[in-house]
Amino acid sequence: MKTIRLDILSGDYKQNIEKAADILRSGGIVGVPTETVYGLAASALDDNAIKNVFSAKGRPQDNPLIVHIDSIEMLEKVASDIPKSAYLCAERFWPGPFTMVLKKTSLIATSVSGGLDSVAVRMPSEKSIRDIISVGNLPLAAPSANISGAPSPTSYTHVLNDLDGKIDACVLGNDCTVGVESTVVSLLGEHPRLLRPGAVTLEELKEVLPDIVVDDAILSEPKSDEKVASPGMKYKHYAPKTESYLVEGDTNSYCQFVNTKLNCLALCFSEDEQYITVNKMVYGTRLNEQTLAKNVFSALRDIDKLGVDAVYIHAPSKSGVGLAVYNRLIRASAFRVIKL
Ligand code: AMP
Ligand code: MG
Repeated sequence: MKTIRLDILSGDYKQNIEKAADILRSGGIVGVPTETVYGLAASALDDNAIKNVFSAKGRPQDNPLIVHIDSIEMLEKVASDIPKSAYLCAERFWPGPFTMVLKKTSLIATSVSGGLDSVAVRMPSEKSIRDIISVGNLPLAAPSANISGAPSPTSYTHVLNDLDGKIDACVLGNDCTVGVESTVVSLLGEHPRLLRPGAVTLEELKEVLPDIVVDDAILSEPKSDEKVASPGMKYKHYAPKTESYLVEGDTNSYCQFVNTKLNCLALCFSEDEQYITVNKMVYGTRLNEQTLAKNVFSALRDIDKLGVDAVYIHAPSKSGVGLAVYNRLIRASAFRVIKL
């Protein structure tokens, strides 16, 4: 299959948005920018198109997809029994990097929800995907546009590196401004539950959902027989091929530790750089977690090009957006954490 390029940066914006909507309406699958990561979109109403998304990514069938919408009217078509707390969250966090899990309607293709009777819904802030949804008048199911297990794509180049020839089209838009996937909260149980941390932080969520609980799977390795609230959390994720370790410690102890290692890479903060004598790659300053989030996946993709035996990643704090970055890195490191 030839993957059509729909260039909305230097080509005709309106024409390319309409073309993307056309391809999606006729059952195709398209890489699209969002503010979090690039998504691989398909009509949420088309079971066959959804199956093609799973097979292009090599994604396990029981890992459900997020449905992207452009309005509260569309929310009410895809979800039912919507609680008041969902409207409060929508008012505060939409459009933006925030997803809520609600009861689904029969409109949503069964493959979208991986057999569950719930649906995860997000209204993104990125204009181009919103325009595609509006022009097509179609909710779009979209997981990240990467090969399953690999670091998520934050530029169209990442999407094409993974999926060129396997998808109908790719919208060539801007790099993602957030850089990590959306915050996912389930509103189905007795208490709201944080299933995946993202750029909408736990601190912000508590202002709207004071009784929110944090799912254990965010920071710990799920047991193989454990029932997880969010099926995606049981899979190995975001992993470079190089053996990775997450290292907790201050600048001094981290730099002393990595400097003793042979043929390795230090994925570090700008504060560490001048003290490191081995190969190093900076992914931002420890003082700005938003920048760490924006750069983390691109850095994970670059690691494998270096031919080192191991990478030692300096761990961010677990507060604010740091929790989202930490959550991705502990998975990229297969839960190998070194506490100095
Ligand atoms: P991704 O498509 O890679 O952004 O992953 C979507 C995440 O949302 C995964 O961790 C899924 O397990 C989670 N998710 C999607 N739909 C549901 C749902 N109905 N219930 C619980 N978690 C969900
Ligand atoms: Mg993903």
